[in-house]
Amino acid sequence: MGDKRACARAITMVENGDKEIFDMIKKLYKYTGRAYIVGITGPPGSGKSTVTDKLTKELRKRKKKVGIIAIDPTSPFTGGAILGDRIRMNDLALDKEVFIRSMGTRGSLGGLSKATQGAVKILDIFGTDYIFIETVGVGQSEIDIVKLADTVLMVMAPNMGDDIQAIKAGIVEIADIFAINKSDLDGADKTELEIQMMLDLNDKKDYRPFVLKVSGVRNEGMDILLDKIIEHRKYLESTNKLKDIRVRNAKLEILKLVEDELMSSVMKTIKNNSILEELAEKVVLRNLDPYTGRDKIIELLK
Ligand code: GDP
Repeated sequence: MGDKRACARAITMVENGDKEIFDMIKKLYKYTGRAYIVGITGPPGSGKSTVTDKLTKELRKRKKKVGIIAIDPTSPFTGGAILGDRIRMNDLALDKEVFIRSMGTRGSLGGLSKATQGAVKILDIFGTDYIFIETVGVGQSEIDIVKLADTVLMVMAPNMGDDIQAIKAGIVEIADIFAINKSDLDGADKTELEIQMMLDLNDKKDYRPFVLKVSGVRNEGMDILLDKIIEHRKYLESTNKLKDIRVRNAKLEILKLVEDELMSSVMKTIKNNSILEELAEKVVLRNLDPYTGRDKIIELLK
């Protein structure tokens, strides 16, 4: 995959909001869209990293180039190597055709999706076939990140009863494939049944997610899991749904970029004066309401 160091540098520039890199992406954008994006989510400890690594190895056997973007809530907003990365760096990182990057959520103030989407484009430009976006858990921000994906893989593990309850709401709608990892442990059948029941209750009729048992540590079922991802991809492509998903995602992306840009204009406008302070004082003293306060700030932008 191109030059890994150049790719790493480009992603750092994206994270830093460097204008140069966005100009480059603009020029090359028409050549992207080839990479297939898989979002991997699930409760912490269910085995997302393990499964991602094994799927990557499976893809490598099939001569595909892989990018992994791991969303890490603990690391600051930089691409520095973190412990999780270093642990798995060993063999995968030595592979010229595998690129691994962690992106921190701390301090990113909602900029994560922009950085992640930028990173996806860079990986695409560098010729990646598959990009895994791996989240740490199943919170709202993770669901948002996963919405950048073409296919969403949900990694579960046995005996996570409470977790299943907790994630039921948002997840059934976004997951395309459920992998019940740690099937070497007791309880995998029960988890599978619970998920199937959850799916029975879901009225999304046109597509029923695959559910399959795998074991990351034993490297069992990974080839089938990858086949299911590819099968889902083919389903999306043949029904034109892939385009719909990408249009939906592009809409969200454009709106988010507009929002960021407007907010940054606002911040620039109010940075060197005390307008916000003054308005806030008035609001507290009931000399002004916050809605009029908003109008006054917006007035400044015109
Ligand atoms: P993540 O937090 O979802 O990324 O989970 P990890 O991939 O870091 O895995 C959490 C723990 O579960 C690690 O100690 C793994 O070795 C272990 N683990 C992963 N896959 C399996 C599996 O298939 N079976 C068993 N028994 N343990 C697993």
